[in-house]
Amino acid sequence: MPQIDQYAVFGHPISHSKSPRIHGLFAKQTSQTLNYVARDVPADAFESNAGTFFAAGGKGLNCTVPLKELAWRYADTLTERARLSKAVNTLARQPDGRILGDNTDGMGLVNDLMTNNRIGLSGYRILILGAGGATRGILPPILEHHPGDITIANRTPAKAETIAYEFSHLGKLISSDFPGLAGRQFDLIINATSASLSDQLPPLPEKLLAANGSCYDLAYANEPTAFVRWGLQQGARLSLDGLGMLVEQAAEAFYLWRGIRPETSPVIKLLDGERGESSVPA
Ligand code: NDP
Repeated sequence: MPQIDQYAVFGHPISHSKSPRIHGLFAKQTSQTLNYVARDVPADAFESNAGTFFAAGGKGLNCTVPLKELAWRYADTLTERARLSKAVNTLARQPDGRILGDNTDGMGLVNDLMTNNRIGLSGYRILILGAGGATRGILPPILEHHPGDITIANRTPAKAETIAYEFSHLGKLISSDFPGLAGRQFDLIINATSASLSDQLPPLPEKLLAANGSCYDLAYANEPTAFVRWGLQQGARLSLDGLGMLVEQAAEAFYLWRGIRPETSPVIKLLDGERGESSVPA
């Protein structure tokens, strides 16, 4: 009997992960036979667990907090966007047995912004809050769409400075702390801090959002996050959370593994409906 192709998401913690459900829905929709499970893998056990998984014939892994940098080091070869990000969320076994590392987070965000929500990027003044792994992941695909400029603001300003320097050959990047944003305006504000996970908000000056501007929180929750609520209070045209990005980054990983692109909108709609009546515009 032929073996079923095995996939998994590793992370710590992982019990909240929606990835098994999303990939299960993609597999059903595209008539692919595969198995996708979530495994709690702490950082110090990543290498041995990934080794065992691939040695047993595993086809692909997703890696989430706190494993993305370790996955970047683990990969035998990297896509350009993963090389630049220094973070990998998708590992794929290649026909020659080597393990390819990719980062589909940024493409997931860009697809959710541009295709699902008609938010343009070209010429935009963009503010990214936070300078962690997620910011590194989203920068290369955003920069491909030629924004006017991107400001990265972080609680620890030195980290924003490092990222602005590292990516400076790809576009106009400015680093800042939060108070330094006073008096400036942006067409799109992206929250890539993990503050939302504890329902907190970075200390943001007034009037940051330009008329007709939009807000996007990479974090997602059953209720509107503190940042999504802030965006609505600031009069944002759209103030969205990261559920769409989550589904879109999964679709990119699925495409890398299976060579077939699932339709994302029915999956986003289903998961959005499952979190109950939401005041988040979608
Ligand atoms: P990291 O831990 O790498 O970085 C966290 C960032 O948040 C740092 O810049 C940190 O600042 C900042 N931060 C944390 N707490 C606060 C606070 N209270 N006030 C201000 N800044 C704060 O996390 P990631 O970059 O990996 O993830 C960031 C967010 O993106 C998470 O919410 C994650 O869930 C989400 N995400 C969503 C995805 C999706 O598919 N929707 C995909 C990937 C990530 P400092 O440097 O000063 O510590």
